[in-house]
Amino acid sequence: MMNCIFCKIVEGTIPSQKVYEDEKVVGFKDISPVAPVHIIIIPKHHIESVMEVDENNADIVSHIILVAKKIAKELGISEKGFRIVNNCGKEGGQTVPHLHFHLLGGRDMQWPPG
Ligand code: 5GP
Ligand code: ZN
Repeated sequence: MMNCIFCKIVEGTIPSQKVYEDEKVVGFKDISPVAPVHIIIIPKHHIESVMEVDENNADIVSHIILVAKKIAKELGISEKGFRIVNNCGKEGGQTVPHLHFHLLGGRDMQWPPG
C-alpha cells in the first residue's frame, strides 16, 4: 500500500536489516530497539491491524508465530524465553498501521506492560 512504511520495507524502497524472509513474511530489526533482541515480523501483504484479520487471512498469524520461534532459536533467546507483542489501535500503542508482531528478548521482561 502506498505511503506505508512497512510495505516499503517489504519492497526494499526503505532499507532494513532483515533477519528472515519467505514468500509470505519478513522479519527485520526494529529501528529503535527496546530489548537486546527486537525483531518486527510482518506479512508482506498489507493488513492494517488485528482488526483486519478474519477467517480468510488468519493463517498468516500462525505462520508468524512459527517464524518467531525460528528467529528466536537462531538469535539464541529460545531457551531463556522471549515475548511476542502485538499493539492494536491507538490505545493499544500501534504507531504503524501495517500488522506486525514484536519479538523481544535478551533481558527480563516486566509485567504488566506500560
Ligand atoms: P508499534 O508501536 O506500531 O507496535 O511498533 C512499530 C515499531 O516499528 C516501533 O517499535 C518502531 O521503532 C518500528 N519502526 C518504525 N519505523 C521503522 C522503520 O522505518 N524501520 C524499522 N526497522 N523499524 C521501524
Ligand atoms: Zn503496509
